[in-house]
Amino acid sequence: MTAPLIDPFQRAITYLRVSVTDRCDFRCVYCMAENMTFLPKKELLTLEELDRMCSTFIRMGVKKLRITGGEPLVRRDIMTFFQGMSRHLDSGALDELTLTTNGSQLERFAQPLFDAGVRRVNVSLDTLDEKKFADVTRWGRLPQVLRGIDAAQKAGLRIKINAVALKGFNEDELFSLTEWCAERGMDLTWIEVMPMGDLGNEDRLGQYWSLDDVRAQLAQTYAVTDLAERSGGPARYVRLEETGQKIGFITPLSHNFCESCNRVRMTCTGELFMCLGQEDMADLRPALRDHPDTDAPLEHAIRKAIGLKPEGHDFDYSRDQVDGQMTRHMSHTGG
Ligand code: SAM
Ligand code: SF4
Repeated sequence: MTAPLIDPFQRAITYLRVSVTDRCDFRCVYCMAENMTFLPKKELLTLEELDRMCSTFIRMGVKKLRITGGEPLVRRDIMTFFQGMSRHLDSGALDELTLTTNGSQLERFAQPLFDAGVRRVNVSLDTLDEKKFADVTRWGRLPQVLRGIDAAQKAGLRIKINAVALKGFNEDELFSLTEWCAERGMDLTWIEVMPMGDLGNEDRLGQYWSLDDVRAQLAQTYAVTDLAERSGGPARYVRLEETGQKIGFITPLSHNFCESCNRVRMTCTGELFMCLGQEDMADLRPALRDHPDTDAPLEHAIRKAIGLKPEGHDFDYSRDQVDGQMTRHMSHTGG
């Protein structure tokens, strides 16, 4: 192993999120336009290149790898990549291999994921109403996702549900979603809607439902205990004493938790974003492609990039307009 990755603010970088594709079989309204243009396939890192990139980060101290997208499970032969990464779990170099998925392909892939060493999966699900699900995902079908969740639990994967909090959309499902998760032994994390991608005609500010409000509503029905647990990301957790469930709140906008940020994100083309809320990135692909026989230039490029990690992001909903808006799509950087 080489020297660990430490950024200019003395934060050790131990968590890498990797987007393995920008494509998706859904078109969630807050994430993509319906007629998205995707990258030409040749722009994408090959599965072998993804393996080399991730293995280099692991050698440099990354202990947790989260695979995302787009929809990671629609990438052709993606199981080959997961199976490759399992060697780092076996050696102890990697503590956790995990993914964030829309669940559409889980019925098929739950068992192979478990076999590759994945133990926890985040499934994004904003509503339990079939019609609303079809509306928000445009192309998604709820029963398929529910079958995927069942298959994953049967395979032994621990599931956490991620729901984007959308005013006027799933406000009325706060308790039904919580109870549905509790019955299945699943934790639930609420995500504040972020000003990413094409705003188009959509009123992103009007969709903003504060998670302080979500928490306050939960506290009227449940005994809510704050948990000290920190994941190094912009999430805070509470426990609902009646159900034993952990409820998370991802609030990169209304609260800024950048000081403990331990993560960086790599796109499917090998661009490294040091912060989800900043445009600065380093293109690692030349260091990888121009030097097929040695990883030294890649290690150098990674270390140089980490040296540029900013202290925090620029998102701000506090005024009456969305500031710090990003033109990038979440499916590009990986959520
Ligand atoms: N396709 C997978 C999925 O949906 O889980 C992985 C990629 S998706 C970009 C990752 C997460 O980002 C999802 O939980 C999704 O709800 C969230 N997301 C996408 N656009 C968002 C936005 N504008 N604000 C907040 N969360 C967003
Ligand atoms: Fe696809 Fe996930 Fe974006 Fe929805 S949030 S369009 S499932 S990448």
